[in-house]
Amino acid sequence: MTEGFTTITMEPRKHIALVAHDNRKQDLIEWAMEHKEELARHALCGTGTTAALVARHTGLDVTPYRSGPLGGDMQLGSRITEGQVDFMIFFWDPLTQQPHDPDVKALLRIAALYNIPLATNRATADFMLSSPLMHQAYQRKIMDFDAHMRMRTGD
Ligand code: PGA
Repeated sequence: MTEGFTTITMEPRKHIALVAHDNRKQDLIEWAMEHKEELARHALCGTGTTAALVARHTGLDVTPYRSGPLGGDMQLGSRITEGQVDFMIFFWDPLTQQPHDPDVKALLRIAALYNIPLATNRATADFMLSSPLMHQAYQRKIMDFDAHMRMRTGD
């Protein structure tokens, strides 16, 4: 079964979600401080604690959602499906079990499905933020969900 594809335009001003597990928060804060000037050109949001810490250390506006273990990852996944988040920096902890692991997995799955640029470590985040595509519109290719539904419902 092959699916059709469509595109969504990502504007030069990206909608960036920031998330870091506890052992990775310092890394994300340092990264955000280092890239403060570039991040200021975009709309930022994040899970509750991460958003508060990045905002405090950089002075940038970061819209907070719930803390990750309290549903913040699920909120971000929902924003991705609605087209309100189109870029994600998610420093997850590969060494520690998380109580909300199913939510983390769900968020990573939705990010992959919606073809969201996603950095899970600092090197990837550096490469992504230095891309010329950060300042251009970009046609993000995604599955044609309407065609998918038509196929499933027979309409
Ligand atoms: P937090 O959530 O930013 O509220 O700590 C992140 C997470 O653990 O998923």
